[in-house]
Amino acid sequence: MPGSTPDYVCFTESLSKKEVSLTSGIWNLESEICFNVRMPPTERLYYSDSHLIEFAAIVTDKTDRVSGWTAVTLDRTAFYPTGGGQPSDTGTLNGERVLECIDDEENGVLHVIQGSAPEVGATVKGRVDWPRRLDHMQQHTGQHILSQAFVTLFNAPTRGFRVLHEVCEIDVELTNPTDERVERAVELANNVIWEDRQITIKEVTAEEAAKLPLRKDPARSGELRLIEIEGFDLTPCGGTHAYRTGEVGLIGVRTWERAKGLTRVEFVAGTRALADYRRANKTARAVAKLFSASRDDSARLAARMVEENKELHRRLRSLEEIAARVAAEELLAAAMPNATGVRIVTHVFDNRDAESLKHVAQALIVHPNTIALLGSREHDAARLVFARSVDAPGDMNVTMRAACDLLDGRGGGKSDLAQGGGKNVDKLPAALDQALQSLN
Ligand SMILES: [Zn+2]
Repeated sequence: MPGSTPDYVCFTESLSKKEVSLTSGIWNLESEICFNVRMPPTERLYYSDSHLIEFAAIVTDKTDRVSGWTAVTLDRTAFYPTGGGQPSDTGTLNGERVLECIDDEENGVLHVIQGSAPEVGATVKGRVDWPRRLDHMQQHTGQHILSQAFVTLFNAPTRGFRVLHEVCEIDVELTNPTDERVERAVELANNVIWEDRQITIKEVTAEEAAKLPLRKDPARSGELRLIEIEGFDLTPCGGTHAYRTGEVGLIGVRTWERAKGLTRVEFVAGTRALADYRRANKTARAVAKLFSASRDDSARLAARMVEENKELHRRLRSLEEIAARVAAEELLAAAMPNATGVRIVTHVFDNRDAESLKHVAQALIVHPNTIALLGSREHDAARLVFARSVDAPGDMNVTMRAACDLLDGRGGGKSDLAQGGGKNVDKLPAALDQALQSLN
């Protein structure tokens, strides 16, 4: 209706409003380019009061063209619609579920209803889901605060913002990121939260905006909606924000990484920060329980265990080498030279990896005129290592390829050493026998 609040829409660079769907779990706020678009006459109550969740309105239109659902437009709404870069609110209209709201330039805010939609002209009672609205506000206001903290400390502006299912990401122009620098920004952001600063909405002309120290360039003419965090941040934005910074509760950074020349910071605010703390605490306590240790000792104990494990592996390998030499001697003692004086040793082991088979083969072929045709059987795989001493005849590569064909697998190597395997475990003795026959 005429006289409604001026409409400002923040379009995202990467996610157009036409692409936002009922199932979209991602939205993009800070890569927004804010500008004013003359919207149809839905009075947007959320612009002036982000905490208004109950309202009465009149149905102005009804359509069933949205994804098979029925949608209604109202003369006024407290529902924040998808399409401004921020995901829509959900809630109820006269008790029926509102699944999503979509900004439609021609028809105003479409409220997609699950169930029976009210008729045109009916007065309806709307109710916005508060936990979801609060979450959106905490992430969005939290992002403004964290982004300004990076600007204040490191002159590092934010170039992108995404709210994912459980976490949020900002892409910051932060060169030389370190844990220490990121944590300094987190520290400042949380101090601003705990100072409980007032957040106000300002509407200014482009000329007025040009004289203001905006964190982001609106890059557009016309009236602008600004979000001001008292004494800290001033940014053009069309989103719903907390009344005071204290409402954000807490900001935590989970991790960061370099991405496309920027620093991608993964953060959580408000209820997400609490949920994330609970998950992290649960994980840390589960790890600590494995060590029968206190929670905060678990990382140190896990690191020590990894080191011990590496040392055990080193020791195991050297013991395997000794065992391989013993096994080789036993196999060699049982092998009779053939007509040409070559000793061909064939044997199938249980559950030896390729490395272990290779150790036995190598221990065998240090002896002259010796060929080793070794296999290992596991429940779902057969392994082979074929090797010969320098003075023994035969091409192990050729022999291996033929054996692997039989095993329905792959393998190869050089003429004196080849390895392979296959899934046809039952054919392992036959594959070794075939190799033996070809070399005799
Ligand atoms: Zn914003």
